[in-house]
Amino acid sequence: MELSFILNELGEERENYFNAVSPPVIQSSNFTFKTVPELRQAMADEFETNLYSRGQNPTLTILRKKLAALDGAGDALVFSSGIGAISVPLLSLLKTGDHVIAVENPYSWTIKLFKEFLPKFGITTTFVDGTDFSNFEAAVKPQTRLIFLESPNTFSYELQDIKKVAGFAKLRGIITMIDNSYCSPLYQQPISMGVDLVAQSATKYIGGHSDIVAGVLTGSKELIKQIFDHEFMNIGPAISPHSAWLLLRGLRTLPLRLHRSFESTRLITQWLNDHEAVQHVIWPYCAGFKQAELAHEQMQGCGGLFSFTLNNSSFKKIEAFCNGLQHILLAVSWGGHESLILPSIASITEHEYGAIDERHQLIRMYVGLEDPQYLINDLQQALAKI
Ligand SMILES: *Cc1c(COP(=O)(O)O)cnc(C)c1O
Repeated sequence: MELSFILNELGEERENYFNAVSPPVIQSSNFTFKTVPELRQAMADEFETNLYSRGQNPTLTILRKKLAALDGAGDALVFSSGIGAISVPLLSLLKTGDHVIAVENPYSWTIKLFKEFLPKFGITTTFVDGTDFSNFEAAVKPQTRLIFLESPNTFSYELQDIKKVAGFAKLRGIITMIDNSYCSPLYQQPISMGVDLVAQSATKYIGGHSDIVAGVLTGSKELIKQIFDHEFMNIGPAISPHSAWLLLRGLRTLPLRLHRSFESTRLITQWLNDHEAVQHVIWPYCAGFKQAELAHEQMQGCGGLFSFTLNNSSFKKIEAFCNGLQHILLAVSWGGHESLILPSIASITEHEYGAIDERHQLIRMYVGLEDPQYLINDLQQALAKI
C-alpha cells in the first residue's frame, strides 16, 4: 500500500460525515442499537463493533487502520501511553513461570517492568547484550516464552539483528516483540523481518507536537484481537477520541517531519564530530558507529536522536554545557517540533558519577524541526562557554 494513500485516504469514509476532509472527533462513550439482536451481536464482538469507547470508537478506527497499514500488520491497538503498549501485551502473553529474554538497555520504564513488575507474577527475565546474536541463543530456557527487542535504543543506540533473532525465535515457538519508537514505521519494518508484535510510543514521532501521550501496538489480527478481548479491555488503557484525532493529524505530516529531523541530525552530528570540545558522537548513521553496516541494512533512515560526550568530561562540565543552551530545551521525551537536550547525569548525583563510565557522560540530543544552523549556533555558543 502506498504511503500517501495510507496517510491521506485509508479508513476515511468522508461520505459518512458531510464530506468533511478532516474526520470528526466522535466524542461519545457509547453507541446505540435499534434492536436487541443488533445489540447482542455488538456485545458478542467488541473488537469489530462500536459499542463502548473503552474498546472501539469510529475516530479511533480510522487511526487503527492507518497504523496497522504503516507497519504492514494485520491490526493495531492504540493505548493512552507508549509504556501501556508494552506492558499490556506482556501481561496478556506471559504467565507465572514464564521466562523472557530482553535487551539489556531498553527504555527506563521497560526495565522496571521486567525487573520489578513482572517478577510479582513469577515471570523472570534475562537481560542480554543484544549486539551479539549468540547471547540470545545462550539465554534460551525451556520456559522462554518471549524475546523483547529495542533496536536501536534511545540513549546508546545498540542494535539487534532483527531478522536473525526473529527467525531463531520462530523456530522455537518463542514470541518476539520490539519497541520500534526510534525508527517509527517509516524507517524500520519489523513485521516484514519476522517480528510478531511491534510497540511504539506515539508520544514521539506520530504525535509529533509534544501535546499528547499515546502508544501503538501492531501484529497479526489474531494476536491483536486476543490481547484486545482480554487484557486491553480489562486494564482499560484506551485513548480518548480527541487524542486519536490528534494522532491522525500528526500522521499527515509524519514523513516530512521525520525526513527533516533525519537530515538536520546528519548535519549536526557531522558538525559536532568535527568540534574540538566533543569527544564522541553516537548515532547509528554516523560513519564510525560500531553497527553502521547493520543499521544501513535493516533501517531505511535514522531518527533524530543521538548522544555525544565532551572531551575531558566531568559532571560540572556537562551541567555547564546544558545550562548554557539558549534555544535547545532541557527536557525528557523527543519526537516533537522542538529540539531537546537530556544529559545522562540528570538521573544521578555528582557522587554517583563515574568518569570512566561512558554512559554517565552521554548527552542526548533530539533534533527537532528548527533550522539546523540555528541549532548549531546554540550548540556553538554553549560549547564556547565551557
Ligand atoms: C517514550 C518511550 C517509551 C514510552 O512511551 P510513553 O508514551 O512515554 O509511555 C517507550 N519506549 C521508548 C523507546 C520511548 O522513547
